[in-house]
Order: sequence, then C-alpha cells, then structure tokens
Amino acid sequence: MNAHQPRAADHAFVLFDVLRAHERLAELPAMREHADTALLTQVIEEAGRFVGEVIAPLNRSGDETGAQWKAGAVTMPPGFRDAYQAFWQAGWPSLACAVEDGGQGLPTAVEAVLHEMLNAANHGWTMAPGLLHGAYECIRHHGSPELKARYLQKLASGEWLATMCLTEPHAGSDLGLVQTRAVPLPDGRFALSGTKIFISGGEHDLSDNIVHLVLARLPDGPPGPKGLSLFLVPKHQTDGTRSSVHCERIEEKMGIHASPTCVMRFDEAAASIVGEPGKGLNAMFVMMNAARLLVGLQGIGLLDAAWQKAHAYAQERRQMRSPGSASKAGQADLIGLHPAMQRILTTQRAWIDAGRVVAYRTALELDTQKHHPEAAQREAAARWCSLVTPVLKSAWTEQAFSGASACLQVFGGHGYVREWGIEQHVRDARVAMIYEGTNEIQAIDLLVRKTLPDGGLALQTLLGELAAEPGQDPRTRQALQTFADFVREQVVPGSRTADAQAFWLADDFLRAQALLLMAWAWGRLSSASGHDATAHAAFWRWVWPEFAMRMDMMHATLAAAPAQAAML
Ligand SMILES: Cc1cc2nc3c(=O)[nH]c(=O)nc-3n(C[C@H](O)[C@H](O)[C@H](O)COP(=O)(O)OP(=O)(O)OC[C@H]3O[C@@H](n4cnc5c(N)ncnc54)[C@H](O)[C@@H]3O)c2cc1C
Repeated sequence: MNAHQPRAADHAFVLFDVLRAHERLAELPAMREHADTALLTQVIEEAGRFVGEVIAPLNRSGDETGAQWKAGAVTMPPGFRDAYQAFWQAGWPSLACAVEDGGQGLPTAVEAVLHEMLNAANHGWTMAPGLLHGAYECIRHHGSPELKARYLQKLASGEWLATMCLTEPHAGSDLGLVQTRAVPLPDGRFALSGTKIFISGGEHDLSDNIVHLVLARLPDGPPGPKGLSLFLVPKHQTDGTRSSVHCERIEEKMGIHASPTCVMRFDEAAASIVGEPGKGLNAMFVMMNAARLLVGLQGIGLLDAAWQKAHAYAQERRQMRSPGSASKAGQADLIGLHPAMQRILTTQRAWIDAGRVVAYRTALELDTQKHHPEAAQREAAARWCSLVTPVLKSAWTEQAFSGASACLQVFGGHGYVREWGIEQHVRDARVAMIYEGTNEIQAIDLLVRKTLPDGGLALQTLLGELAAEPGQDPRTRQALQTFADFVREQVVPGSRTADAQAFWLADDFLRAQALLLMAWAWGRLSSASGHDATAHAAFWRWVWPEFAMRMDMMHATLAAAPAQAAML
C-alpha cells in the first residue's frame, strides 16, 4: 500500500482557475501583496511535498501503534514528534497568522489547502495541530495583554500545541450542563477543578508545552450556558512548574488511533480567565468556527484519499468483461470499466470537487469578512460563513464516511482486510460526523439559530446571490428560487406555528442546501476549462435527484405537524 500523495495542481485549480482567489484577495489591502498566484501556488506545491514526504508515510504505522498511555504520560507513535517538530519549525502552523504575532499573514485559503492535504494524508497526526489556529484566534481576540504576550507567538508558531476542553461526562452537545468549577484566587487567577472527557491531544510528547482552553463555571455563575467562562491552563507554567492537570486515561476507539482522546482531571489547577466572566461560549465560538471549517476539510480530504486509492485499484484489478467491451470472450476487463464501479467513483469525485469549491470559497469569505474595506462586503462574507459552515461540516463529513465506504466496495474483500489501507479511512472518517458539534446540532444551528430568527432573510439573500452568479445552470437557478420561496412561504410560517416543527425539518433542510451548494459549485467548476466532465455528469445524474426527495420529505413533515409530536 502506498502512502497518500497530495496533488497540488488539483487544489490550485480550484483556488485560482475556478474561484479566482487572486482577484478576490487583491480587493483586500491586507492581502494584496499575497494575491500573487505564482507565490501562492509555490506555497501549495511545497505544502504538498512536505505532507507527502513527512506526514503521509506515518499514517499506517500511527494507526497500528496508536498513542500509548502510561502513568499519566502519553507517548505518540514513532516518528510523530520528529514530524511535528519539523512541521512547526518549517513555519507551517503560522501560514495564516498575523505578521505582528510572528505569522506569515497568508490567506486562510492557503491554510485550508494545507489542512485538507494533511487530513487526507494522516488524520490521526493532524488532530494535534488541528485546533492550533482556533486557539490562536481565541487568545488574539479575547486574551488580556498579559496572556497575549505570553502565549500568542508560541501558538502562532506552533511551538506549543493547544486543546479545547469542553466536554464532560454528562455535558456533550449541551454545554450548559458543564460543572467544572473556577474559584477566584487572591492573585487574580482561578483554581480550576473538574473532569473533562474526549479531549483531543490533552496529553502527548509532540510539543514541550500544551495550552488548555477550558470552559468552567464561576461560583456565582448562573446555571446554563450564560454561567460559563473560558480559562487558560498551561501544562507547564512560565516558571516551569507543572500545573495540576492530569491525563487519567486515553480512550480505545474505532479510528484515529494515533490521536490521544484523553480524560483530563483538573485539581485546583491555576488558571487565567480568557475574555469576560460569563462570556466563555462567545470566546470559544471563535475557536469552534475555525475548527468547523477544518472538520469540513477533513471530510473532503479523507474522501479524496479514499477515492485516490479506489481509483488506482480500479485501474489494476480485472474481473469479468464489462458490457459492450471489445475484449475477447474469456478475458476479464478492468473493474474501473464496469458501470457500477464507474458510478461509485464518479459520484465521489463529484462530492470532492464541489466540496473543495465550497470550502475554499468559505476560506476566502473568512478573509473578506476580516479585511474588506467595505462594510457591505464584510457583511455578505459574514453571511456566507455563518450559513455555509454548518452545511460544509455536516454534509461533507457524512459523505466522507459513506463515500469512503463506497470506495472500500471497489476493492471487494480486499478492501475489508487491512492490506490496502482503505478500511482505515472508513474508521477514521466516522468521528468527524460527531465532534465539533454533531451533524444534528449543525442542522439545528442552521435552521433554528441562523434562519428562523430573521424570518429567513439572510438565507434568502445568500440564495439570491448564488443564483445571480454568472455561468450557473438553469436547473440550479430554478432550484435556488424554489428553495427561497419554500423558506419564505412554508418553513418560516410553518415553524413559527409549531415550535418542534423546525427540529423535525432541520436535517433535510441542511441536506437540501448542501445539494444546492453543490449545484452552484458545479456551475463554477464547469466554467473553468480542465474540470472533470464525467464527475459533472455524475452530479446531475446520481447526486442531484436527492434534492427533490429532500423537498418531498420536508413537505411531508410540514403537512404532518400535529402527528409528529406523538412520535416522540
Ligand atoms: C474522538 C473524539 C474527539 C473529541 N475531541 C474533543 C475535544 O478535543 N474537546 C472537546 O471538548 N470534546 C471533544 N469531543 C467530544 C465531542 O465534541 C462530543 O462527543 C460531541 O459534542 C457530542 O457529545 P456527546 O458525545 O456527549 O453526545 P450527546 O450530546 O449525548 O448526543 C448523543 C446524540 O444525540 C444527539 N443530540 C443531542 N442533543 C440533541 C438535540 N438538541 N437535538 C437533536 N439531537 C441531539 C446528538 O446529535 C447525538 O447523535 C471528541 C469526541 C470524540 C469521539
């Protein structure tokens, strides 16, 4: 089995030929000097080389050895520490960090490409730096001057890694139930006590220090989410002493064996508050939004890695004659010629290519939201990020799992055994549907928190903007209009009259928008020469019909309002 090799040219094609990133970036004064296509292409090529040579070869051994826990310490699989040290020393974590913090000030889209490549090559390893940029943004926006002075450069460079400590045994999706306590100390700090579970990278030997960002409750904090504040606890304090934070064990799990998923106990650990008391979730959302784009990219990367393996195998393995084949009787054709296998492969390609367009566009919108000189442009970009990020996270992580399983099917029994490495992608991909807010929570976020409160206005504006883009297929324009009418005439009034209604609708509502975004993305792709025409055809034939099905499901749900409550 060969390690995954990134294809830098495919990523650059979407960024520059399809999305015209250089033109978008040239509108942003802070990014203008980086709008140079040649420079950004060179960075992408270099990223591909580094990922292919250093990170990808550790994927299989990382899965087999796994992270090991002994007496509170975690040893990462062989080669992982050296690879991480090479990674941060080469400046990869700081790509999109601000120059004044020691970063390189490059566009978020280039960081997005790097993370997609890393996840495709080695999901387990990439879990460690996956939260770094979010932690950096969180301290940059909410940290006191003292915290910034102490931690910002270390996080920007990646010399120190970071965690996000939210989940507790009884508090998963509902963070309002968090019980970890923070008691004020005379010196202005806090003593943190409680247990966090499922903490990715809570303990390891990749970096010399680990910065934990922890949600906890002050003694006078009200119950529920409004009582939560955010705290920072380093593994090692500035004077070198070790904080009272202990890794009690790591989980045995289905996939990403190389990523230690830790139970962390805080025993009156000295902590600094990040941001204002009671505003912990606000501060954490900076980190979670960055992480959700990266999880969507994880889905796209994993699907691409599975597709590349399956595609290569389909060009080698021969079984039976394919229908209409010119082969002689008794000869077997490549399985890649059989319609059923072609359908699997082109359908996954349709998801990968469209997903990349949606994800990289989101990364460009993140920079536009931050740096565009015009308020209207910043507002439009914020609308895109808010509404598209949950769709990207949810739909493309779901596709990574089901699509990787379809790619395994291309191998027949050879996919189910370990030899070809395809089964690891299926196991690894599954978790992305769960963490960073489960896919069901993303759907509720999209409909209940982001669509209904303004009567669907922001969403309808976004749908209108997509329809107005040049080069869109008439089917796409028609569907965008149909969906906008449906939101205005049925979803908003229907959900107001019956409160629970929106929650029944949410998953189909998100899925329908994923399909609309794909249709839009294929409109963009097909306007650039060099796009994959078979994947484009596969989209319209085998993916798009689901849109009508989701609309039917939503009509049925809206029509069946009173009976549904009884189903509970
Ligand atoms: C490998 C791994 C790594 C992780 N890393 C981290 C980390 O670094 N930091 C961290 O803090 N956490 C981490 N997590 C935890 C992860 O974020 C939680 O598992 C996730 O938020 C779900 O919480 P839960 O597991 O308690 O499930 P629950 O919240 O109990 O949910 C169970 C099911 O009910 C559904 N559900 C819950 N509430 C609703 C609702 N209101 N409406 C509809 N459906 C609902 C969920 O979608 C899910 O399907 C990690 C988890 C795993 C498995």
